[in-house]
Amino acid sequence: LAKASGRNCARLFDPTDPQSSDESENLAALLKIAIAQNLVSLVYQPIQDVASGRFEAVEALMRLKMLDGTLVPPSLFIPVAERTGAILELGRWAIRTVCNELLVDDHVRVVSVNVSPIQLKTPGFAASVATILGETGVTGNRLAFEITEGLEMEMHSDILRCISDLKLLGIKIWLDDFGTGFAGLSWLRLIDFDTVKIDRSFLHDCGTPKGMAMLQDIIALVRNRGHQILVEGVETDEQIALMREFGIDRIQGFRVGRPVPAANYQTKKPVHKRPYLRSA
Ligand code: C2E
Ligand code: MG
Ligand code: MG
Ligand code: MG
Repeated sequence: LAKASGRNCARLFDPTDPQSSDESENLAALLKIAIAQNLVSLVYQPIQDVASGRFEAVEALMRLKMLDGTLVPPSLFIPVAERTGAILELGRWAIRTVCNELLVDDHVRVVSVNVSPIQLKTPGFAASVATILGETGVTGNRLAFEITEGLEMEMHSDILRCISDLKLLGIKIWLDDFGTGFAGLSWLRLIDFDTVKIDRSFLHDCGTPKGMAMLQDIIALVRNRGHQILVEGVETDEQIALMREFGIDRIQGFRVGRPVPAANYQTKKPVHKRPYLRSA
């Protein structure tokens, strides 16, 4: 695919395709220099409380720009970063950047950061987070970590220990993309998640009676276990009305707000034309 699509598209590859290993290696090399070269940045997507209409939190999402300016989606570079271990440095960079860009002032109350199970499994991860909090003067209760149930079936005891250490720092633990993996239900049994984010595919499939029943079942399951419910991928006013009717706690999606750079949150009113101000 990469070869056929020519030079300009050579970087749009599928990391699971063995033929694309060249591009995967290029990307792996790029990830090593990405932070030093300012090729990575964060954008922030608002999370709205349904009852009050208030913007309670934002989710930090990583962006990677190639040297030629092409944007690579996280669905492509995160798996490569996880495979090579670059996710460890990128992950620490993301947490530090969130603290510096949005949490040192009162711009936003809570920022959620996606955290890979690889990070949670790595000894010293919680300690490195504590160091970042100490150095930036941010309290842990301003952070939430989103964990995605991956193909990873087992819940390592290391992960459970790390999660309890993070909770001691005051960091909330959310379950991301619930319903898409195989492990979600067993994770729900093992970890007391503050919030469960229901994957956007459930909302998008609710146009059929079967899909609607599925959405209602999954909401009931999460609610009966006492978790806060956040539904992702809200794109229309009808969906917002439905979420209100279902008593969903919080919503996120393009209809609520698109991911935007930190500068948009650094003044009282969103300023969309302001250039992105890099903090470090
Ligand atoms: P996620 O954590 O589930 O993030 C939500 C994704 O859905 C984002 O894609 C966001 O732009 C997109 N989205 C939000 N609202 C809507 C909507 O209304 N409709 C549709 N169709 N999409 C919507 P993005 O930024 O491309 O990120 C993809 C995934 O990459 C994330 O999924 C997350 O799993 C991963 N990711 C992103 N940043 C990081 C990071 O800093 N660390 C780690 N470990 N993973 C990250
Ligand atoms: Mg997420
Ligand atoms: Mg995710
Ligand atoms: Mg998600």
